[in-house]
Amino acid sequence: MRLTVIGSVAFDSVETPFGKKDDVLGGSATYASVAASFFSPVNLISVVGTDFPGRYRTMFNKRNVDTSGLEDKKGKTFRWRARYHYDLSYAETLSTHLNVFEGFRPKIPKNVNSKDNLLLANIDPELQDWIFEKIRPKGLVACDTMNLWIEHKRKALLKLLKKVDLFLLNDAEARQLTGHTNLLDAAKYISSHGAKMTVIKKGEHGALFFSKGLKFMVPAYLLEKLLDPTGAGDTFAGGMTGYLSSVRKITDSALRKALVYGSILASFTVEKFSVKGLLKVELKDVEDRYRHFEKLTKF
Ligand code: AMP
Repeated sequence: MRLTVIGSVAFDSVETPFGKKDDVLGGSATYASVAASFFSPVNLISVVGTDFPGRYRTMFNKRNVDTSGLEDKKGKTFRWRARYHYDLSYAETLSTHLNVFEGFRPKIPKNVNSKDNLLLANIDPELQDWIFEKIRPKGLVACDTMNLWIEHKRKALLKLLKKVDLFLLNDAEARQLTGHTNLLDAAKYISSHGAKMTVIKKGEHGALFFSKGLKFMVPAYLLEKLLDPTGAGDTFAGGMTGYLSSVRKITDSALRKALVYGSILASFTVEKFSVKGLLKVELKDVEDRYRHFEKLTKF
């Protein structure tokens, strides 16, 4: 099955304790669609400015990511500047420039089908909702978010939860959104607002999954070297939904595997700046880590 991904395509300027990069390719939809494309074909819906190099579009197309929904608009591409300190689980946002995203309401490409699965990667929840209403998806609907939207668009986000099958956010965001310190309580709050399944990402500590019938926890893959955590969450969301788009039926076993694939793909992302870590691997490398992950966690 195809997966439609909507979210940001961005230029990121990032500083971590291990280095600094300016204006490198980033964005929630970038990481998510590249990660998902390991398992299923992707339709990307987003917008870029006139400063966006054609070679990035070529990169997407080479990786089974259809960019007919990636609009070119006069102006500048979305820009995000952030800094990480030694606690790499927390990004300090220094600036966010929505640029061409300001008021953006995309055209839906012809090849996007309401039967496809949909990933509403991190972006303004009002835009996520707008896309949902345009597509009226019948497949799986997943949604990711971040602290900025919880702070400024909380009402829109809570309203959106009713339409969402799988909601992903990190532990700090779960606490911020729900007012609960205990993550089980936070997951219950999210489920009471309509999301059928919740994933709470915990950075280097892995992720938790909650649904009515299944509770599951997955560690992060053990890495020797980590350069930049940017995009780990989006990669996780893309890897997970990409894998779920490749199976015939979403069973508990498929959900468990999807979480492991999300975790493994994120481990490649954090090894390098931008999408470099993801772009250097093939499915075979992902499967190798999957097998090693099994060994590391079996008891
Ligand atoms: P994460 O997976 O949480 O590390 O996400 C990092 C990515 O999110 C970066 O590549 C940013 O370009 C993107 N991003 C940051 N802020 C926003 C925002 N407000 N809306 C959409 N995308 C964002």
